[in-house]
Amino acid sequence: MSINIGFIKEITPDEKRVALVPESVKKLSDKGFRVFLEKGAGEKARYHDLSYKESGAEILESAKEALSRSQIILKVQPPSPDEIEAINPDSFLIGFLQHYKYPERINMMADKKINAFAMELIPRITRAQSIDALSSQAAVAGYKAAIIAANMSSRFFPMLTTAAGTIRPSRVLVIGAGVAGLQAIATSRRLGAIVEAYDVRKAVKEEIQSLGAKFLESPLVAEGAGGYARELTQEEKDMQHRFMADNIGRADIVISTAQVPGKRAPIIITKDMVEKMKPSSIIIDIAAENGGNCELTKPGEIIDYEGVLIYGPLNLPSTLATHASEMYSKNLLNFLILLTKEGKTLDVDFNDEILLKSCVIFKGEIKI
Ligand code: NAD
Repeated sequence: MSINIGFIKEITPDEKRVALVPESVKKLSDKGFRVFLEKGAGEKARYHDLSYKESGAEILESAKEALSRSQIILKVQPPSPDEIEAINPDSFLIGFLQHYKYPERINMMADKKINAFAMELIPRITRAQSIDALSSQAAVAGYKAAIIAANMSSRFFPMLTTAAGTIRPSRVLVIGAGVAGLQAIATSRRLGAIVEAYDVRKAVKEEIQSLGAKFLESPLVAEGAGGYARELTQEEKDMQHRFMADNIGRADIVISTAQVPGKRAPIIITKDMVEKMKPSSIIIDIAAENGGNCELTKPGEIIDYEGVLIYGPLNLPSTLATHASEMYSKNLLNFLILLTKEGKTLDVDFNDEILLKSCVIFKGEIKI
């Protein structure tokens, strides 16, 4: 008996991504899985039903049908209560679950004995790189942040030598040089800006420099566990404030991406720093989803503070839905290979760190 895999239209407002793209469907079909999708599931990400059909999927009229006929359900956003209602007990659900935000949905799934795995909990180990959806989607967000900054700015990014004079390039400061920050640096460099970057992890210095940007050296180091940054002490925050206040005024564009696992994003850009920025400067705060790195950020809004535009975009990966879905779909495909044997049996081996750490519910028990 082959395993049935299903995916549906994402109904969360502004979510355009889809869990599987036709290329991955073809790979799953070739491995012996049966794939079901709700009619039009990939439309918003520009993947059409015909391509899915040609890749071997079966198109069903409703989400309810796709959910109830599948043993494995793939999602981008957490399932809604109605969706959970339509899923059979003992099925597997894999997606971004945001368990801290929707504990009642986790309880509902546990009560129904739906097994659930969260893509945001995949450990950041070398073996899991091809499954690491946080990274694939952060890369999209970092790229898009630089493009939005260039679009919002009233200045060129590159230097321009014209008959009408020489235009100086924009100066971009990237705060936080993790996956998103490095992509924002690379994209700003490709557009010709002078880029500086700052992080509390010294390990990123070489990566920043290899992208042609300058690493802003500060005496502050805050490496935490697992390669992440840790939260700063009050004394360190004051030190960071003095350091950033000296540097931020030079930037035309600030792209901030700093995060600390399990905490609100650290406030790094304070109101007094914004007051020191040139009018016409732009702050793109992609940590907005998690509270923001700028004291003045209003998630999802653009605000004008004394001529400085501060934008805290939400769900940037959805704005590049075709490629973000392609990357996410590959992450899911690689996860499914771990979870199953030859498309025929589900094999949850909790000796595997990746399955152990990403599991949220198993056989009715909440594991987190
Ligand atoms: P993240 O989203 O947690 O944070 C973004 C960046 O903000 C990080 O570089 C962090 O150091 C920085 N930051 C936090 N607090 C700060 C502060 N107060 N001031 C300035 N900068 C601050 O990071 P991420 O992109 O998820 O990456 C985190 C780590 O995971 C990195 O070490 C990365 O190399 C590693 N990683 C490993 C793998 C893998 O091996 N599979 C994959 C992806 C990332």
